[in-house]
Amino acid sequence: MKYESLWLQDKQKRKTIKLNKNIGVDVLIIGGGITGLQTAYFLKDSNQKVCLVDSNLIGHGITSKTTAKINYLQETIYQDITKKYSLKIAKWYLDSQKDAIQKIKDIIKTEKIDCDLKKVTSYLIASTNKDVNKVKKEEDILTKLKIDVQRYSGNIDGINSKYAISVDDTYVFHPLKYLYFIKDICLKNNISIYENTKVLKIKKDKNNYLCLTDKYYIKAKKVVIACHYPFFLLPYFLPLKDHIEKSYITSFPSINKNRTLITSSKTKSIRYYQDNKIYLSSSCNLCCKLNDKKNFDKVIKKNSEYVWKNDDLITVDKIPYIGKLKKNNDSLLIGTGYNTWGMTNGTLAGMILSDMILGRENKYKYLCNPLRVNNIIYLGSFLYNMGSNIKGYIQSKLFKNKKWYSSKVIIKKINGESIGIYKDKNKEYMVYNKCPHMGCSLIFNEEEKTWDCPCHASRFDINGKCIKCPSKYDITYKKDW
Ligand SMILES: Cc1cc2nc3c(=O)[nH]c(=O)nc-3n(C[C@H](O)[C@H](O)[C@H](O)COP(=O)(O)OP(=O)(O)OC[C@H]3O[C@@H](n4cnc5c(N)ncnc54)[C@H](O)[C@@H]3O)c2cc1C
Repeated sequence: MKYESLWLQDKQKRKTIKLNKNIGVDVLIIGGGITGLQTAYFLKDSNQKVCLVDSNLIGHGITSKTTAKINYLQETIYQDITKKYSLKIAKWYLDSQKDAIQKIKDIIKTEKIDCDLKKVTSYLIASTNKDVNKVKKEEDILTKLKIDVQRYSGNIDGINSKYAISVDDTYVFHPLKYLYFIKDICLKNNISIYENTKVLKIKKDKNNYLCLTDKYYIKAKKVVIACHYPFFLLPYFLPLKDHIEKSYITSFPSINKNRTLITSSKTKSIRYYQDNKIYLSSSCNLCCKLNDKKNFDKVIKKNSEYVWKNDDLITVDKIPYIGKLKKNNDSLLIGTGYNTWGMTNGTLAGMILSDMILGRENKYKYLCNPLRVNNIIYLGSFLYNMGSNIKGYIQSKLFKNKKWYSSKVIIKKINGESIGIYKDKNKEYMVYNKCPHMGCSLIFNEEEKTWDCPCHASRFDINGKCIKCPSKYDITYKKDW
């Protein structure tokens, strides 16, 4: 069994280029996940000079660890949006998801992309009596929104079902096969793509932005932040507008069934890929259940082949943040906060952001506006999100030497600094046990061999290299420092 995502098993070597000079462009896209690449794709026929950079390899962020359902049946999202806003806004969101699905299908067809796209029936299941009303309510709203909903009785794929509904015209695919094709199409259309190139700072420079990497800069008229969790705090104080949710996923051999399943309380999610079943469970707020081993143990099956962990941003109103970061500024744009539905929402972000860049109207621009006023109804969510961040910070400080760590992991003070040490048969790996983002102590994930931040989900490998934002810096221990 490997602690790695199923999607990362394709070991084909792909050519990568690192930024090796200062450059000037019209549009810089920071981040090469589904958001960044879809945005680049939609700009490919424009007269804009476009460049995309990724601190790692294309598609190796959150998108490489998704379950990759292309779905508009998203737990109980339509009743959540109706409750917070109105049925009209729920309909607006539904239309956006359906348009994004159609767009993905169109791209795959036009570009002849071989990414194992498959049409499936998707189920929403109430696995407890408490959840039955929620699923019935979602059924009612979807019916009002003119979706053909079927009822289903009996347990499905081993999930205890008290009540279930299903919808059609939903899809699954291989997310990395899709992104690699999109990358190649972008390159053929003169979009420059630099990998292993991290943006460390964005500075205003007259009418441009200067985006600094470790050695070079990129001067851009417009910048798209597509790096999932922004690596800067201001002007947009994200931690108050969302929280991070983590999940544990496994895949194992199984007969393929043309369906996806999700429970209304999101405790379980299933899809199939070729002869594999992909099973997600143990979702919780990032700052909770810090013992990764225990969480992994809950999802691992006897015949599990791959196991991995992933996280995504959950917004207070379940609608993503796509658009301007600052009022009166059309040049600094963002796409994030997809509530674990990034295949559709990352595509929607590409559609909206490219339209904004090219001065075209987009009917979903106001729906996803990141500057929308979060009214008093959200006070509870604001407090919850703030509490989550504080809880993560305190937990990380209080319980540094986790009792579940094996004898291979030690945290100790050296010259006043907290140092994390992982020893394998041959070597000792030392890192600073402090996240450079906001100073939280890190938790060692012994299964995936990473140091993980329980506050904002930065991750570092055993050598201390930052492999996931928002941290910009590594935590490699330098003896003579
Ligand atoms: C457990 C789980 C299951 C999910 N399942 C589904 C599903 O079935 N269907 C669905 O629609 N969605 C699903 N999602 C959600 C979806 O996977 C994400 O919302 C989506 O992949 C996010 O894409 P992204 O492009 O915003 O981020 P990423 O894929 O993380 O891309 C961001 C990129 O930015 C780069 N980067 C970061 N900082 C910098 C920097 N400073 N400079 C340069 N580059 C930088 C990173 O290296 C990364 O490659 C799931 C999420 C989770 C957690």
